[in-house]
Amino acid sequence: MEQVNKYLDVVIGLGAEKSFTYSLPPHLAHRAVPGQRVVVPLGSRVRTGYIVGLTATKGEYDVKDILDIPDADPLVPPGLMELTRWVGAYYRAPWGMALGVALPPGLEEGVAVRPRKGVAEEPDGLFGEAHALSLNAEQVAAAGQVQAAVKEGSFRPFLLHGATGSGKTEVYLSAIEALKGSGRGAIVLVPEISLTPQLARRFKARFGAEVAVLHSGLTESKRREEWWRIRNGKASVAVGARSAVFAPFTEVGLIIVDEEHDGSYKQEEGVKYHARDVSVMRASMEKCPVVLGSATPSLESYYNAKKGKYTLLELPERVLGRPMPRVHIIDLKDKPGEYPITSVMAGAARERLERGEQALFFLNRRGFSDFLVCRDCGHVPECPSCSISLTFHKSARSLRCHWCGDEQTPPTLCPKCGGDKIKYMGGGTERIEKELEKLYDGVKITRVDRDTVKERGAYAKLLGEVASGESGILLGTQMVSKGHDLPGIGMVGVVLADTGLHHPDFRAAERTFQVVTQVAGRTGRGDTPGEVFVQTFQPEHYALTHAATHDYAGFYAEEIAFRKELGYPPFSRLALVILRAVKPENAEGGAMAAAREFLSAAKGTGVTVLGPAPAPVKRVRGKYRWFVILKGPSATRLHKALDVGIKSLNEKKLLPGCSLDVDVDPQGMV
Ligand code: ADP
Ligand code: ZN
Repeated sequence: MEQVNKYLDVVIGLGAEKSFTYSLPPHLAHRAVPGQRVVVPLGSRVRTGYIVGLTATKGEYDVKDILDIPDADPLVPPGLMELTRWVGAYYRAPWGMALGVALPPGLEEGVAVRPRKGVAEEPDGLFGEAHALSLNAEQVAAAGQVQAAVKEGSFRPFLLHGATGSGKTEVYLSAIEALKGSGRGAIVLVPEISLTPQLARRFKARFGAEVAVLHSGLTESKRREEWWRIRNGKASVAVGARSAVFAPFTEVGLIIVDEEHDGSYKQEEGVKYHARDVSVMRASMEKCPVVLGSATPSLESYYNAKKGKYTLLELPERVLGRPMPRVHIIDLKDKPGEYPITSVMAGAARERLERGEQALFFLNRRGFSDFLVCRDCGHVPECPSCSISLTFHKSARSLRCHWCGDEQTPPTLCPKCGGDKIKYMGGGTERIEKELEKLYDGVKITRVDRDTVKERGAYAKLLGEVASGESGILLGTQMVSKGHDLPGIGMVGVVLADTGLHHPDFRAAERTFQVVTQVAGRTGRGDTPGEVFVQTFQPEHYALTHAATHDYAGFYAEEIAFRKELGYPPFSRLALVILRAVKPENAEGGAMAAAREFLSAAKGTGVTVLGPAPAPVKRVRGKYRWFVILKGPSATRLHKALDVGIKSLNEKKLLPGCSLDVDVDPQGMV
């Protein structure tokens, strides 16, 4: 046979930015496909790499032959090669880097022979270790639709919108049963698996050794071991955090994304992929259904369901007729001097504790949430052009919009009501803990936040204190809002809902609605109905009023109107361009030049350019950071404007001492 592709593009070292070209000796040609490991000479050394491309031509340089192709078939399944190629292109990272995200560390070197090589055994006999609950009518209907799509083997995206405690997990488990005997794998994504050990346990109870768990909290050798179990067909269900979307099944039959709205699905460093969106892309490539589940779907997903792109499945009620918790909103403007724990909230918690129940206190203290609030009317200053709350910079005593860069001096009188009680809101969980200690003498308090869960296993230990009843009070940040089943919690207190509302982000209202709904969902999961108290300066804010009545549809209607008016996603696509430099003037100069070049690149494309503006967190790891935001009607146009702008910035050498990085579909923006 004539050898058409004589040259190979090879990535050496996962995570590498560049690929190298080698020539292919004819005797190895039959095994040269993308995803194969190859042994190559590099300088004076011999290295292992991956084939990422085959071509008939090479550039104007000498190339060397590869030395060997050690495996009979490719280490990386073809479907995964295709997926990582798309991820690299869409999130603007080299293919080698995307592969580096997809494969466990240390796989390319030193793994001479794969364990137990050959035809994969039929994965059977291990299913059904624990008995399934008998599903209620809504669960049966939802699971039935997914099972039918699994059997059909076609691309079908579903949005499973189910209240907290409505039994979504049982639907996932039952949908996976439909894969039995098909030889295709199931991928289950959960946000931050180390925070949700219960879920992995439920999957293991049902599917036993068929379950492989993948996440970054495991040791490297354990991660490789689990990866191989999937690759060899020993495990047919992969459960993990975002990188599990790259589980190396030869064929995928179903993908589930639990809590699909969760921001932690977006990787913020390196290859900035969104695991939910990659899941939908993988399902479409593999021709299988994908289920996005949530009590509080993202605006993007619900919009897709409304437009008929996704099939909407609903579980409106909690299981076993359990009621949704009652939510009371406490107006802090009416309670001068009572912050942080008002007497109403303190009393409600005391009552629960006396009855032997537990209380959960929650403060959504995000990395960057300092703002000024008028204690008379609750007004918080916003940017007139971006509708984003202005952030208060204590050291500079200035109010700044982190989208367009607009800056103001903080008012001494409230611009809305003329009042003079403008207060700076800061402070975190530590302060609340001291307050609770004073209020509830002798009650053990468990605090869960970034500071207390630093060590491996600390989180599980802390939750254990609560689950065993040793602790009466659980206090924490958004970490405690996620999927735990703690039946002893009778009462939830949200200390200050406004911290999230005034995050400098167009998703601030959405995030607040989600987190309040989710944290409220932590209560009433046992035998007694739960109760929730939400303290705020803005009791009339739609994110809170709809969360209080468990009214997702009502919230969606108001939020989607706001997005449409300002042209934010899902009505547009965003790209965040980040300029970084050691010297502040280089970062600023680079940002100015970038904004200018993108503006001219965007001319006539419908893409608009916002900024430049200094990043909310202006210096990270010794580098100053500036943002430029591009907003476009479609991903294609956005990519085009980025390509043209970046090319011209490089050609004109407009970024001296400054690096440029792009975040496509950004989430956090700090
Ligand atoms: P969600 O994921 O929607 O929050 P879960 O699947 O965790 O809900 O279900 C909440 C609780 O209800 C779990 O303890 C689960 O075992 C139980 N449950 C789910 N479905 C049923 C059912 N059909 N009958 C009885 N209990 C159920
Ligand atoms: Zn602005």
